[in-house]
Amino acid sequence: MVDLLPETLQRWQAVEAVAREHFLRSGFGEIRTPLLESTDLFCRGIGEGTDVVGKEMYSFSDRGDRSCTLRPEGTASVVRAAVQNGLLSQGTQKLWYSGPMFRYERPQAGRQRQFHQIGVEWLGAGNARSDVEVIALAWDLLAQLGVGGLELEINSLGTPEDRQAYREALVAWLEQRMDQLDPDSQARLTTNPLRILDSKNPATQALLEQAPTLADALSPDSRHRFAAVQEGLTALGISYRLNPRLVRGLDYYGHTAFEITSDQLGAQATVCGGGRYDGLIGQLGGPATPAIGWALGMERLLLVLEAAAQADPQGPAARLVRPQAPDAYLVNRGDRAESAGLSLARALRQQGLMVELDSSGSAFGKQFKRADRSGARWALVLGDEEVERGEVRLKPLNQQSEESTVALSGIAAMVELLRSR
Ligand code: ATP
Ligand code: MG
Repeated sequence: MVDLLPETLQRWQAVEAVAREHFLRSGFGEIRTPLLESTDLFCRGIGEGTDVVGKEMYSFSDRGDRSCTLRPEGTASVVRAAVQNGLLSQGTQKLWYSGPMFRYERPQAGRQRQFHQIGVEWLGAGNARSDVEVIALAWDLLAQLGVGGLELEINSLGTPEDRQAYREALVAWLEQRMDQLDPDSQARLTTNPLRILDSKNPATQALLEQAPTLADALSPDSRHRFAAVQEGLTALGISYRLNPRLVRGLDYYGHTAFEITSDQLGAQATVCGGGRYDGLIGQLGGPATPAIGWALGMERLLLVLEAAAQADPQGPAARLVRPQAPDAYLVNRGDRAESAGLSLARALRQQGLMVELDSSGSAFGKQFKRADRSGARWALVLGDEEVERGEVRLKPLNQQSEESTVALSGIAAMVELLRSR
């Protein structure tokens, strides 16, 4: 688990601001649920046979002897909240969330034990067009952030019946080849055989090349549905790759499943993952309601954004991750100047300007160096002489402008100058 420090958070906030606007424009409202839920919610929602429930949850007994779990993902909580608050009787719900998630995993680049997701859940969305809209929502957000080089992978997991038929076929096929499977996959053969499909073991992957595929097991209806999703994506100009091995780590998915990956991330390549979960709401005690959603990992998104910013220093990603420079840096020295400086900084901040007040009391030269480094376009200069005359000097930094002198009381004139481009 890592601390997030101001420099990092400035970039996070820039991303979050873009996401918030994007969701607002698309009719999604924000929901915030508790970080702590009853353990049972995730066991029922995500599935006992999954890695998340089987080995990654932070669970403990509280003082009332109830088993609690720090949420490992957002969907189950959002569905619980929608059911408990009766939201589903008010029509479809388009919801987004962001915040920390907790999974006991092996920490490495792009993988933490506390990580952060931004996600959406569209409850009550049943037709293939909603799959397309939800995928486009993720794709367009990433495009707007200026992240390039992404690949969208999609698959259909079909209906529970399709999966049951496929599971049997796959198990029968793999049982003949037990000796060629890695130990993890051997264990999954009884607990969660579909998860073998996304084994990271190269030998298992090679073996699976020959295995029966889920696509072959889909019913005609499931096939039609999947074809409609693909046509919809094509109509929007969103290119995709079919990945018959994409099964996703949580049991609740059916029909459309998708992931967006980046070539910048090494082994932890998936930035965003999601899919349809028509059975989950009913399973968690709500009315049978189709739904689809996705979640993206903030830490991985930021890694991709930083790579994009380096590759194109003038591009949108670079603008987004660049620290925001103050409008003015206030250089001040001497007793009276320092008092006047504090009042001036305060007055300008009240007018909405970002003002950095040097409070070091060090020599003017040192303060000017820091002013340059701050990236501010202007230095406001206050020495005891200026205060004596009731004035402040505005000295341009990093730009071509005339130096000027303004009355200390002339806040409006100062604001105008500092805002001029
Ligand atoms: P992975 O295969 O990388 O473990 P996942 O399928 O477990 O991912 P999801 O549950 O679909 O991940 O979560 C959606 C996104 O959240 C992922 O695509 C990833 O960007 C991010 N994410 C998941 N687990 C972690 C983690 N431990 N640390 C950082 N980000 C994570
Ligand atoms: Mg995982």
